[in-house]
Amino acid sequence: MTKTSPTENVLIVGGGWAGLATAIKLSSMGHSVTLLESARQTGGRARRMAIESHDGHSLAVDNGQHLLIGAYHTILELLDEVGVNVEQNLLRRPLTLCMHSLQGQSLLLKTPRLPAPLHLLFALLGACGLKTGDRLAALRFARALRGKKLSAELEHRDISVARLLQQYKQTARLITAFWEPLCLAVMNTPLHEASAAIFLHVLQDAFLEHRADADLLFPQTDLGALFPDPAIRYIEQQGGHVHLGMRVSSLKIEQGKIHGVYVDDALIRSQKVVLATSIPASLALIREQYALGALQTQLAQFQFEPVTTVYLQYPAGAQLPQPMQGLVDGMTQWMFDRRYMNQPGLIAVVISSRGPHMDLPKEQLGDRIADELARLFPHWPASLSRFVIREKRATFSSQIGVNALRPENQTPVEGLWLAGDYTNNGYPATLEGAVRSGVQCANLIHQTTINS
Ligand SMILES: Cc1cc2nc3c(=O)[nH]c(=O)nc-3n(C[C@H](O)[C@H](O)[C@H](O)COP(=O)(O)OP(=O)(O)OC[C@H]3O[C@@H](n4cnc5c(N)ncnc54)[C@H](O)[C@@H]3O)c2cc1C
Repeated sequence: MTKTSPTENVLIVGGGWAGLATAIKLSSMGHSVTLLESARQTGGRARRMAIESHDGHSLAVDNGQHLLIGAYHTILELLDEVGVNVEQNLLRRPLTLCMHSLQGQSLLLKTPRLPAPLHLLFALLGACGLKTGDRLAALRFARALRGKKLSAELEHRDISVARLLQQYKQTARLITAFWEPLCLAVMNTPLHEASAAIFLHVLQDAFLEHRADADLLFPQTDLGALFPDPAIRYIEQQGGHVHLGMRVSSLKIEQGKIHGVYVDDALIRSQKVVLATSIPASLALIREQYALGALQTQLAQFQFEPVTTVYLQYPAGAQLPQPMQGLVDGMTQWMFDRRYMNQPGLIAVVISSRGPHMDLPKEQLGDRIADELARLFPHWPASLSRFVIREKRATFSSQIGVNALRPENQTPVEGLWLAGDYTNNGYPATLEGAVRSGVQCANLIHQTTINS
């Protein structure tokens, strides 16, 4: 590998969505970049992987089914910048929450094509399965969402989402069928632990500005093809370099400044380094760096949540009536129909956070989910194959007060920067949070370069 001049090249460690966003943005502003990724592919926690299908063929799926929303403006802009046709690659549907119960359908909430926030108001008024008391409670919450007072209060003193819902007298039915599944999907953290400040931030982004912000966006390709592949092409076209299979083992920091990184025993020099690694990987890299002691203490306090995805292959005729549906009283939480990704009959079941599903052996979990789907859709034939993926540290836990632990992009070490979903960007651990962090990091590096 070529070693470029220390003053002109920015080294980016980690090729997840945050690292790629940093590299794209810096390249577009004329910086020379080199990205080092330890894995054999980029994408990090949102990457393509291959599984074996029932007939022995290799099937491209994702290490976890991902969903985007219309409010993910930074991602949408970046996809456009690297030449991805957003309309063709993301299926856009107005927010429709179809929540089943094993006893029969319990809630259907569909946002009409009205300007925000009227779409939310009419969705709540028109939702099937709610009683008058539920609707009035939901409207009470929607009104609070619009005021600035609540956000200011939560910024000052964060509470749990459960407590917030209690304060606004949300009914038990509304909590079970709407708020709890939504909180788990958005925050990957249980209701009674999740930060109300972060939850409110996402709700306000999704519901208050433009109707389309609440739209659900379903990738129509695997995650690798959606962003990492076009991102690499773009970075290389701008003269940047992406190196796979290169694990950074330590950082060279002297007298409060970064001088480069070590890969095996070789020093790659640079005076500008971005750590775009996950929290555990970043902690390993900054360990024993005296100048980063406070950051270490901060990062060590984060906790993590798993996400489990069960892929079930059925004959092609098995279809969900909507691209995504929920289940309120099973182990299954969300079902996605991958026929929209040209994978007819493939259903991805997502289970967020902790729970009894984590104790089941994979095969038993696959059986259990297949049983639940058979009860919901008795006309479907039996599944042909099942595949379970457990990501034990899928996301940081968006717990009460976690925003206070989130570091800024700039570190106390001169020339060393952080990018990743966990930095101070207001969002839970999401693709948008990762990409926002990367873009912000690039802008700050650019500013300090032109000011120096
Ligand atoms: C199963 C699952 C489902 C999810 N669902 C959703 C969803 O529906 N919607 C949503 O918005 N978000 C979802 N998320 C969260 C989202 O995927 C993450 O927030 C996002 O991908 C984090 O990106 P990142 O770049 O910050 O970190 P990462 O993706 O962790 O990237 C870090 C990169 O650094 C590399 N690296 C680590 N150590 C080194 C080293 N020493 N040297 C070189 N490289 C190194 C890693 O290999 C990795 O590629 C989900 C996550 C998971 C796991």
